Amino acid sequence: MKLDIVTIFPEYFAPLEVSLLGKARRNGLLDVHVHDLRDWTHDRHRTVDDTPYGGGPGMVMKPEPWGEALDTIAPPGATPRMIVPTPSGRPFTQALAVEYAAEPWLLFACGRYEGIDSRVADEARTRMPVDEVSLGDFVLAGGEVAVLVMVEAVGRLLPGVLGNADSVADDSFAPGAMESLLEGPVYTKPPTWRERPVPDVLLSGHHGAIARWRRDEALRRTARNRPELVARLDPASLDKHDLDV
Ligand code: SAM
Repeated sequence: MKLDIVTIFPEYFAPLEVSLLGKARRNGLLDVHVHDLRDWTHDRHRTVDDTPYGGGPGMVMKPEPWGEALDTIAPPGATPRMIVPTPSGRPFTQALAVEYAAEPWLLFACGRYEGIDSRVADEARTRMPVDEVSLGDFVLAGGEVAVLVMVEAVGRLLPGVLGNADSVADDSFAPGAMESLLEGPVYTKPPTWRERPVPDVLLSGHHGAIARWRRDEALRRTARNRPELVARLDPASLDKHDLDV
């Protein structure tokens, strides 16, 4: 997968050198290009912002450097999927991460200040798909951290990136049985730690009972921490035991 990231803070993306994603880059699974938006400015101060039309506090990112950056990175005929992080976008979910993981090329546009002049996304939309995406109902200082989050969520889904590809199927929100569920508690050795034993069923070797326990715990945890998700569970996916929980 090819990733282009446009930002005024390229140094924010140093973490993409480490851990799973760093390894994915070295193995050729992720081809990441981080671009400095200021390379497409033409004044001595490399200006990327200006005062907002209509007045008000803060600054807005100017359209000209963005237009030139997008023309260079995605010239006519090239169609990456462009993603603009913004608190006013559609929510970023695991389902969207799965969708993005199937794309060959993503182009991320990191906003700063009060955001990017709206004409940039409008114009880009005439030549490539553009998604405005929110990480949640809060406001960050810039799009860089949001992009790091999305790149990590998408990158770990790419074939060959995780050591055990099956583990993503059991994750919270994974498409399928876990779609509207949080994963339950997990344990490792030793069997007792500070007088706290691991639940007996996990040591039983009884795969059916373990699967049942994991599903019950997922349902309980979801009901406790995210009750609105329980309402979204497909009734056809529930069995008699689920209803007891
Ligand atoms: N004035 C904007 C508003 O209220 O919607 C907030 C601008 S914010 C200070 C600057 C940049 O941070 C945004 O352009 C966006 O790139 C990023 N950002 C902030 N919060 C975000 C969120 N919840 N999800 C995704 N990106 C976010």
